[in-house]
Amino acid sequence: MNYKEALQHPVFKIISQSAKELQLESYVIGGFVRDFILKRGNAKDIDIVAIGDGIKLAQQVAKNLPTKTKVQIFKTYGTAMLRYDDIEIEFVGARKESYNEDSRNPAVENGSLEDDQNRRDFTINALALNLNQDAFGDLLDPFNGLADLKNKRIKTPLNPDITYSDDPLRMMRAIRFATQLGFTIEENSLQAITKNNHRIKIITNERIVVELNKILESSVPSIGFLLLEQTGLLNYILPELVALKGIDEVEGQRHKDNFYHTLEVVDNISKNTNNLWLRWAALLHDIGKAPTKKFNKKVGWTFHGHEFEGSKMVFHLFKRLKMPLNDKMKFVQKMVFMSSRPIVLAQDIVTDSAVRRLVFDAGEYVEDLMTLCEADITTKNPKKFQKYHNNFQIVRQKIVEVEERDHVRNFQPPISGEEIMSTFNLQPSKEIGIIKESIKEAILEGDIPNDYEAAFELMLKEGKRLGLTVNP
Ligand code: ATP
Repeated sequence: MNYKEALQHPVFKIISQSAKELQLESYVIGGFVRDFILKRGNAKDIDIVAIGDGIKLAQQVAKNLPTKTKVQIFKTYGTAMLRYDDIEIEFVGARKESYNEDSRNPAVENGSLEDDQNRRDFTINALALNLNQDAFGDLLDPFNGLADLKNKRIKTPLNPDITYSDDPLRMMRAIRFATQLGFTIEENSLQAITKNNHRIKIITNERIVVELNKILESSVPSIGFLLLEQTGLLNYILPELVALKGIDEVEGQRHKDNFYHTLEVVDNISKNTNNLWLRWAALLHDIGKAPTKKFNKKVGWTFHGHEFEGSKMVFHLFKRLKMPLNDKMKFVQKMVFMSSRPIVLAQDIVTDSAVRRLVFDAGEYVEDLMTLCEADITTKNPKKFQKYHNNFQIVRQKIVEVEERDHVRNFQPPISGEEIMSTFNLQPSKEIGIIKESIKEAILEGDIPNDYEAAFELMLKEGKRLGLTVNP
């Protein structure tokens, strides 16, 4: 089969010509070929295998390109990279790999194209296109990757048990590709992943998180999390989620399975946002439920304070996984901490003051919070489902109104502490805090508008109540 169509970009002819000048063979391999056949859009990453020195080929290509191009060389890996147009091209010499127990970094030696295809993780990632002039565009598919692409199957070229044990990151990659592409992992692979799940311990957290993020960024992330759970990997990576699994029953009272509920929430939110950190918030929004779960004879199952507990757990989880402990983490914490607020609101009559408090507390993230809470509605009772959604519509509408009128998002007190001090001739003291708090409360309650005159008047009233005298 010929795939010249995939190689229309002029750079492929230049690589082909450069390889010829060095008397080398060269091939495009991996993701680029896979994504072309899947029509996943024009890939911007191209992997080139040279039968010989990949770094030399990169340098020759750079010489032959019409614009001056820098080659980045990674000596330890024997690879080189250059950018042309907006394409990133990576060059490597074909190699044979052998692994040992404690590392995912193999010993490498030069090899043939076949050796190089053998070392690939999946049949669909081992497809190569010939760049040599006499066979330009020919597909080399020793493991029937094309059939696996058609049948939507993730399969390893060699024995899966050895493939996953050699480099356990492949277990994450298998599940990530299954999620991104909507493919099934074939049975032997699934068994091998389950058998080798403990080997994930030799993979750095950074690499695990890269794959987790890609799973979360997919259109149906639950596919990946179900597979992670099914293969036992989730125990090693996110035990907080596994702890949400199961339904307890006491005196005939049951609570919902919060693991499957969480996955539903993540899928729901993924239809409405591409914000990775909001998706993380959906994934973690209930993790505080496992440690706070209690049974109470009168009210049944309770999870008191799970939002606060959950937001503390977010910090430890991010730290353990070596994720950034920055404003993204704080955002996830805030979403988890506030995750029940709009639901409570929407169960009742939606008052202006409750909405004003919500906007005040959530600040710039109030829309994100609403998106999270709408995704959180997973009730199978159609009446309740409709009622909550209708109420959230009202909340959203009221947010707009309250915003226009009261400007409580990023609230700045209309009267400053200095002004209170000079009005009553006060040194720093607790009265200032009391007055500021009552002004803020009155605004949030809707007793006074959020403006200077009303706040000034209330300040005078409060000062009088506290026995203060106005500075003449
Ligand atoms: P994506 O860009 O979506 O991550 P990709 O397949 O291009 O997909 P890369 O990580 O860029 O992924 O890897 C390029 C190619 O290198 C893969 O297609 C595969 O052939 C090979 N590869 C990558 N990682 C591994 C691995 N851990 N074990 C074996 N082969 C791998």
